[in-house]
Amino acid sequence: MIKIAIDGPSGSGKSTLAKSLAKKLSFTYVDTGALYRTVALYMLKNAVDISDTDAVAAALKSITLGIFHKDGAQHVTLNGEDVGDTIRTTEVTMASSKVSAQPAVRAFLLDTQRNMALTHNIIMDGRDIGTVIFPDAEVKLFLTAGNTSRAERRYLELREKGEDITFEQVLADIETRDNNDRNRKEAPAIPAQDAIFIDNSSFTPEDTLNTALKIIESKLGAL
Ligand code: C5P
Repeated sequence: MIKIAIDGPSGSGKSTLAKSLAKKLSFTYVDTGALYRTVALYMLKNAVDISDTDAVAAALKSITLGIFHKDGAQHVTLNGEDVGDTIRTTEVTMASSKVSAQPAVRAFLLDTQRNMALTHNIIMDGRDIGTVIFPDAEVKLFLTAGNTSRAERRYLELREKGEDITFEQVLADIETRDNNDRNRKEAPAIPAQDAIFIDNSSFTPEDTLNTALKIIESKLGAL
């Protein structure tokens, strides 16, 4: 099975790129951030103190996660129930960055991610796909964009969903999350040594797709 890893900070356009690549190449798209978000959702719903690593580790024993795809979209189930968009709120987003720094949480999600590649050609996006999950991925892309561009994209997305949030708050949240993700001890969000960078600050989603397709073709030939 072929593995294409897409890493990069929040708002760098990973999921937009991964979704369109998956469609174009008929690969399965796996959004790993959704798994960390789902763990965070469980902790918030069950009033688990997310700064208490022992409490979080104990709570993981009560979680069964599932992934399924319908009409090309990924769905995550938490103890049998589809979490839908409840994992996309600002509260869950910030909590996901905190729980993801905990080794027990990362270990808990490791097999779910690796197992996806046993049966499917996959495009997986996240923070540690090229470094930890699939160090042997055939293609590793690292997407970047300036903080303002990333915050603008996220701000528009959240406003569209009806969230009452200011641009300044979105920018501050992105910077906090970048900082947590990049500086954690376990699986820090850094590029793999053999990752190819795409800075898409001034790109349209189509430009990013075409750039990625050229890189993939140069590595794998025409698919
Ligand atoms: O990609 P997304 O913004 O949905 O990810 C939510 C959070 O999950 C990130 O801020 C990061 O802390 C964590 N994450 C991670 N490793 C991944 C994917 C996401 O630590 N592979």
